[in-house]
Amino acid sequence: MFNLCHYPDACILLVEDDEQQLNLLRAILKRAGYTDIHVCSDAKKAAAEYWRLIPDIMLLDQNMPGRSGIEVLTEITKEKSGEYFPIIMITADADSKTKLKALSLGSKDFINKPYDKLDVLARLNTIIDSKRMHQQLKLENNKLGITISETSTDLQSEKQEKMYAQSKLAHNLLHDDLTGLENKKLFLSKMSEGIKRDELNSKYSSVILIHIGNIKLINNSLGHKYGDALLKQIAASLSDITLMVCKKYKLNYEDLHLAHFSGNNFVIGLSNLESNKIATQLCEQCVENLAESFQLNKMNIELKYFVGLVHYPEHGESLELLLQRADIAAFQAEEEKKNFCVYDAKFGEYAKYKVTLMQDLKLAMRNDVLELYLQPKVDLRNWKIYGFEALLRWNHPEHGFIPPDQFVAIAEETGIINQLSCWVLNRGLEIQAKLKKLGYTHNIAVNITASDLLNRKFIRYICERLSSSDYTPNSLTLELTETTMIQDPEEVLKNIKLLEKYKVCISIDDFGTGYSSLAYLKKISAQELKIDKSFVMDIASNQENQVIVRTIINLAHYLNMQVVAEGVEDILSFELLNEYACDCIQGFWISRPIPFDELLPFIDSFDMVEKKASCG
Ligand code: C2E
Ligand code: MG
Ligand code: MG
Repeated sequence: MFNLCHYPDACILLVEDDEQQLNLLRAILKRAGYTDIHVCSDAKKAAAEYWRLIPDIMLLDQNMPGRSGIEVLTEITKEKSGEYFPIIMITADADSKTKLKALSLGSKDFINKPYDKLDVLARLNTIIDSKRMHQQLKLENNKLGITISETSTDLQSEKQEKMYAQSKLAHNLLHDDLTGLENKKLFLSKMSEGIKRDELNSKYSSVILIHIGNIKLINNSLGHKYGDALLKQIAASLSDITLMVCKKYKLNYEDLHLAHFSGNNFVIGLSNLESNKIATQLCEQCVENLAESFQLNKMNIELKYFVGLVHYPEHGESLELLLQRADIAAFQAEEEKKNFCVYDAKFGEYAKYKVTLMQDLKLAMRNDVLELYLQPKVDLRNWKIYGFEALLRWNHPEHGFIPPDQFVAIAEETGIINQLSCWVLNRGLEIQAKLKKLGYTHNIAVNITASDLLNRKFIRYICERLSSSDYTPNSLTLELTETTMIQDPEEVLKNIKLLEKYKVCISIDDFGTGYSSLAYLKKISAQELKIDKSFVMDIASNQENQVIVRTIINLAHYLNMQVVAEGVEDILSFELLNEYACDCIQGFWISRPIPFDELLPFIDSFDMVEKKASCG
């Protein structure tokens, strides 16, 4: 913890008529460790009190009935010109003319209302420090028999530099280095004060958490330099939005705090609100502005961002709870594939549901209740089924059919994905062995995730499993997405190299939806590239997708990879893909994923069709 009270013995004089403000200020100082605090609430007596105490610091309110702060200041400073007056003016909405006047009269700094605790303490330290230095200097000079006015300008500027360095240090302690926004410490302090004030005044506060989902990906794919540049752009964009909203709704900028908490989380706090509606509008504005693409090195970057909103006192009594719930709401937004969610108590229920589902999934693996369905991949060059993609199916006793991408994501989050992938790999190889016994030598493709590919134990498990079985080289394909590959490119490359010996095929799944560099694609020497079904499903009617698919096919061929188009749903799509020299197809037009029981009849009927086709 930082010690923000450097001079606990300092004599402090507070001149303020508003009792509530006075109590607040006194509480801040006391809590920081100051003990010698004097109060004067009658502006007319303030100058006399100053000369009675000669304090180490005086905090002087500008707006007081009977006599303004400037008048008090004039009264004090006219007594002794050339004296050092450690006086800080308290201003709520002073114009620059008043501030200039105060400075020219000898005031050293300003503090704005409402009080920002850390700001107050930092300024106090700087001025008391200078006051003490001044005193010391005066003593030394008296000893030497010279007056303070004769001290060298060098000492003056040294002192100014020291003051500047100190205020810079205080600023750095409270702000984020990269973005210049408030840091977590300053945000927590300002917002808790704001919430306390709102509690007293029956006003509202809100907290908005903006989670940027693809920063890690950008850091890994383009480098940290670009990730940092993007964060700075986001910070600038959020600053613009908050400023605009402040102006539009006539909010006091002091009541709005924009902070950068960590690499991927920005937080906005609003207090002193008449209603929480403004916070909702601010969220909507954030969502709208962040949807515009950001430019990095002439590239357009689309952000993945999720915004969670919570209101005080509706969603929590403490700032800690509000932040925790804003995080839950942002997470829920991601779950629901939305950009923005307001916290709801039932979100906690969803977290519980996930934990139960994970336990059920473990049980389903143990009891062999999960099933592997198989979907054929057909080679257009010889019209043969060359392999099957293994796709998980889970009929939950209570929740019914749960789509695999949903429970695979939960398995990833809850740390049981490697276990699940081992189950799929084993079951897939067992099916392949059964087919082999019957004389069929089809390739089996298994989907694996980033956590699998980055886990050495899992990779070793595949190697052991393949060396202990009667494995035919090139008969196992691992399908991994582009995004998987760039989580940690170096580690992924090393692990793929370990598999090379066993002649496992690598297939890049869902190509076109993630980020990948062509150089990297070449490096990992993948044999197959699967065009994402979103480009294929409507290819017959969508000219843009026709261009994309043709380009991907050419690219893959150029890199010596075979291309599979997934999501082929009709004959028109097939004809186009055939025309574009696509190597293989997979999709409902050939067959939906089917259970093992239906596999042999399907293979036989497909062969019949083929025979009929070649006869006819
Ligand atoms: P994927 O690996 O891209 O699998 C292809 C998905 O497209 C499958 O969805 C398949 O049923 C669907 N599909 C195939 N042809 C067509 C078509 O013509 N039209 C349409 N509309 N869809 C088609 P499914 O089985 O729901 O799987 C979704 C995703 O879940 C998979 O996408 C894969 O990412 C994941 N997944 C499935 N099984 C596993 C598994 O065992 N392990 C892992 N890690 N992920 C799995
Ligand atoms: Mg796949
Ligand atoms: Mg796919």
